Amino acid sequence: MHSESETPVRLRFAPSPTGHPHLGNIRSALFNWLFARHHGGKLILRIEDTDVARKVEGAVETIAGSLQWLGLDWDEGPYFQSRRLSDYHDIANRLLQENHAYLCYCSAERLQAMREEQAKRKQPPRYDRRCRDLTEKDRAHLEAAGVTPVLRFRMPLEGETSVRDLIHGEVAFKHDTLDDFVLLKSDGYPTYHLANVIDDHAMAISHVLRADEWLSSTPRHVLLYRALEWQPPRFAHLPIILGPDRARLSKRHGATSITEYQRQGYLPEAMVNFLALLGWSLDDRTELLSRDELIKHFSLDRVGKTAAIFNREKLEWMNGIYLRKLSLDEFIERAMPFLDRDLPESVSRPLDEVYVRGVLSLIQERARTLAEAPQLAAFFFVDEIEYDAALLLSKKMDAASAAGALSVALEAVKGLTTWEAAGLEDIMRPLANELSLSTRDFFGLLRVAVTGRTAAPPLFQTMEVLGKEKCLKRFSAALQLLCNLR
Ligand code: GLU
Repeated sequence: MHSESETPVRLRFAPSPTGHPHLGNIRSALFNWLFARHHGGKLILRIEDTDVARKVEGAVETIAGSLQWLGLDWDEGPYFQSRRLSDYHDIANRLLQENHAYLCYCSAERLQAMREEQAKRKQPPRYDRRCRDLTEKDRAHLEAAGVTPVLRFRMPLEGETSVRDLIHGEVAFKHDTLDDFVLLKSDGYPTYHLANVIDDHAMAISHVLRADEWLSSTPRHVLLYRALEWQPPRFAHLPIILGPDRARLSKRHGATSITEYQRQGYLPEAMVNFLALLGWSLDDRTELLSRDELIKHFSLDRVGKTAAIFNREKLEWMNGIYLRKLSLDEFIERAMPFLDRDLPESVSRPLDEVYVRGVLSLIQERARTLAEAPQLAAFFFVDEIEYDAALLLSKKMDAASAAGALSVALEAVKGLTTWEAAGLEDIMRPLANELSLSTRDFFGLLRVAVTGRTAAPPLFQTMEVLGKEKCLKRFSAALQLLCNLR
């Protein structure tokens, strides 16, 4: 009855705005999106904002912004659970009337003491069901005392509930390990369990794809569906994401919020490719998949059961590949905001477009993130470069011979009327020979003199882009540094 061909495919991404979305949240969003797009179904965005105390200002905006940045579009919503309270109250009442739920008047202090006692006895924390079978009279008494009750689910005392999971198969949970969990809190808000089930039903969700950590909640949901005589959706619990040390992802492993990756200069297309491989694979080899290929090939059959390992180097490697795949124009467009943001303040804005183009054409090959572009390119823009004079020396060159070689180089190019890479190389290459230096040592010296670094883009192209005036000034400055060394 619940076959894919008959039931429209409708998925939801249902984040709680209790923090900014992290990798795990967005990986769930991506898998839902891929599944929906693969099957020509719909994706619904639902904000599960029933935990009023833990709500974080601005989280809804970053959730939506992150999805938009990654191009994960949704078809309906955002729906907000906080605007649907009367629906939850109606269903809660029904559960109470039909004796699937009961009112509990236990105070927070009593529950706290109970939990401490259980911890002392090394028992799992669980409600002791004191209010499960209150008499009318008890209840009237408590009501008269003005205690605001919560609503709890009346968990069957025996037996078990089996969850059929599309990734994990059948997983059985014994009822005596499950609590009489809260459905409606004393502040009138539903718990996650109640609102989640009501909404998945109301929104005709066909498949629930969510993180593994929710698998243990699923028997509660299945029991709620049964109590309400609703058909549950299909469930698929996605493997947890761990760091390379197999610990839960945390700040130690680098950025945790998705906006941080955006700030650090990762491309959304690289991010999507990378996230898709956190728990899913096409085969044992393929690493690079475009958005369209991902949609075409995505299936739950190839989602793993075991933890997915987050590997930052892999993300950087992949991002570098995506950066190099861009046309120069696209690269410039994406890197420009990062140059604007991160180049030293002394560099005057707006940046010269023609110059930027020359610089970025040399940087594109080398940058692994957009945020690296300003670091790699700074020496092109600043007036004076700062570096340790010792970099100008090598095993074969002391300060005197380095200064000598540099003066020869300066003399050779100072009268040039054209300044381009091939011509410069034609002059410098034979000079190395005349100076009895290897090109490696000689060019190394020139490279430090014009860039202040030992590693930079190809020397003569760099010199061409820098232009004659800057290069000559930097040669002279290097000569001065060498003089000071002597
Ligand atoms: N609001 C839950 C979360 O933040 C949703 C879990 C689910 O998808 O059922 O992860």
